[in-house]
Amino acid sequence: MSSRHCCGCQAPVLFRGSADKVNGSASPGITLGHDHNDVSITLNRRSNLKKFMSKTQRTLPTFSNSRTSTFRRTLLAWYDAQKRDLPWRASRDPYRVWLSEIMLQQTRVAAVLEHYREFLRRFPNIEKLAAARESSVLAAWSGLGYYRRARMLHAAAKLLVRQHAGKFPSTAKELLSLPGIGRYTAAAVASIAFGEPLAVVDGNVDRVLERLSGKQLPEQQLWKAANLLLDRNRPGDFNQAMMELGAMVCTPRSPLCLTCPVAERCATRGELTVTPKPPRQKKREIHCALVLHNGDFRTPEFGDGECPKSNKDGRQSEVLLVLRSRTASLMPGMWELPALATSNRNANPLFTLRHSITVTDYIVRVWRTAAPAETRGRWIPIERLSRLPLTGLARKILRKAELL
Ligand code: SF4
Repeated sequence: MSSRHCCGCQAPVLFRGSADKVNGSASPGITLGHDHNDVSITLNRRSNLKKFMSKTQRTLPTFSNSRTSTFRRTLLAWYDAQKRDLPWRASRDPYRVWLSEIMLQQTRVAAVLEHYREFLRRFPNIEKLAAARESSVLAAWSGLGYYRRARMLHAAAKLLVRQHAGKFPSTAKELLSLPGIGRYTAAAVASIAFGEPLAVVDGNVDRVLERLSGKQLPEQQLWKAANLLLDRNRPGDFNQAMMELGAMVCTPRSPLCLTCPVAERCATRGELTVTPKPPRQKKREIHCALVLHNGDFRTPEFGDGECPKSNKDGRQSEVLLVLRSRTASLMPGMWELPALATSNRNANPLFTLRHSITVTDYIVRVWRTAAPAETRGRWIPIERLSRLPLTGLARKILRKAELL
């Protein structure tokens, strides 16, 4: 790699082998130039320049200024024409942007779509969210997983209403002081809702940047590279365009390079060979008891594949659920079905389903059997289930049993 300066301001332009047209090469690799307005680098100060040079020269991918401008224009034109019609893109309301960003963390868009509208129906603004009971917020979040996000969202809403009359801070720096908001979310909300010129780096942007530049980058360099590329006139759209490109075109496996709007400016035009493989999923089998009580029995009395919501007298059934401890590290305060240690190998389960949590794929066998004697559960009327904070797995089982 060699380096030189791009113009009179002495900001460095870095070259990686022959992948830059300033170097006289026709290689498609993009050269990251600098943005003259980029306050994060403050190149007009000698000491910072020195520090910047020593830290980044060996690691930053490089785009020239003209290529960077073309890249921004091309990507934004593609985004304007091709972006998915997602409900959170219809508004720049910070509450809605914030909610979507929190929900989308480590969660598929399809799963968020299902919950986003319902959550907004229940809590249409920050005041309603702040005034809600935590169990109601968790119930609305149920099925999205990572429940700490819901608790933090709720805590931040209460703080904003209590201390700022419900008004959202408009800068990433202020947003960072709220519960549950880290560097990514602060930059996403500030750029999308308020137009602050700050780049974001999530898994999609990370992958796109590494493939564009043809090299793996440590985290700090990724943020620097993203800020160098950022279109400062449309930062929110540009950030979303980078993420959209990663989600729809530059996908983790088999990127669609033939239809990629920025393929001409990509160093790899395909998977980066050094990209680490995703961690292998672990597999586990678990067993749960689905125990119904309809006023006459406290043992299961329904046939295969059949879970009555009421008995022949029309009395509502109840289902036995267990409340997870408030101090549990995972899903505290959520309701779930009683766990069974072992299965009866001579019988058939009521049904079997699959469920994944982070890196573990579960095969879940649901049995119509009495809960273990030591189970400390509670009988919950079926009509109350939809208002309860259920774990994602409990929700899935109860839906499959047509009790929810
Ligand atoms: S889709 Fe292909 S061409 Fe486009 S950025 Fe990704 S790797 Fe490069």
